[in-house]
Amino acid sequence: MFYRLQNTIRRFMVGRYGTDGLNRFLAVTYLVLWVLSRCFPRGWVGFVLSTVATATFVWFVFRTLSRNIPRRQAENQWFYGWWYPTREWLRHQKDRLRDLRVCRYRRCPACRAWLRLPIKRGRRTVTCSRCHTPFKAFFL
Ligand SMILES: [Zn+2]
Repeated sequence: MFYRLQNTIRRFMVGRYGTDGLNRFLAVTYLVLWVLSRCFPRGWVGFVLSTVATATFVWFVFRTLSRNIPRRQAENQWFYGWWYPTREWLRHQKDRLRDLRVCRYRRCPACRAWLRLPIKRGRRTVTCSRCHTPFKAFFL
């Protein structure tokens, strides 16, 4: 019985796109939006959230069942072009928050490197450890 169902699904999915990174992202986004929309059972916030959640789900199903595979792969490439830098940025914010009591992060204006600096309040001149360019930085 279960085997037959599995077989039917497999036959149905032949020539269709299936899942990829963008679809996993859409599925997670859908779940998050759905949970958030449950937190606002009344009013326009919940309505907007559940509408966007439904649209995300429809997009997810559409991509999974799509037969236009090159188009879906191009979408996935585009998605990773956005997702990888975003994920790096999120990781960096996490580090900043974790080290809030230990050090400060500043970007070198010359070589764009992130520097971990000791907390000394006020405006002072910092020298980049990578390219040795001095620059002024302000520390709260
Ligand atoms: Zn530098």
